[in-house]
Amino acid sequence: MQGFLYKLKQFMYGRNGLDGLGIGLFVLYFILNNISYYSRSWILNIIAIAVLVFMIFRLLSANIVKRRAENDFFMYYFRRVRSWYTRHADLAKDRARVKDTHKIYLCPKCKRKLKVPKGRGKLEIKCICGNKFTKRT
Ligand SMILES: [Zn+2]
Repeated sequence: MQGFLYKLKQFMYGRNGLDGLGIGLFVLYFILNNISYYSRSWILNIIAIAVLVFMIFRLLSANIVKRRAENDFFMYYFRRVRSWYTRHADLAKDRARVKDTHKIYLCPKCKRKLKVPKGRGKLEIKCICGNKFTKRT
């Protein structure tokens, strides 16, 4: 096993290896492969295999500069989607927690969460950033 790992390390030297995009592609392959299996779609199956081939190609590629640029591009959008999702999941959790007594709005300017009492009619909400907006509570 030691010898195998050593040989693997030697083989992978100077190659891109597994990065964030590589993991993303593998997850995409896994999802597409499952959908193609259950829907019996050979087109999806071919796309899934193409994704896997691209992932392996990137894994073994020696053009690290180009592969890193691809990875940076992917990670930039991945982080944006992830932070958007986290923000909205948090907001939904907070809204559910206070839903009987309060409403939570996001300030349109600075995106801070603002909690206002429920059932007071139209309220002018003033954020600490100085922005004002009107909402029905
Ligand atoms: Zn604000």
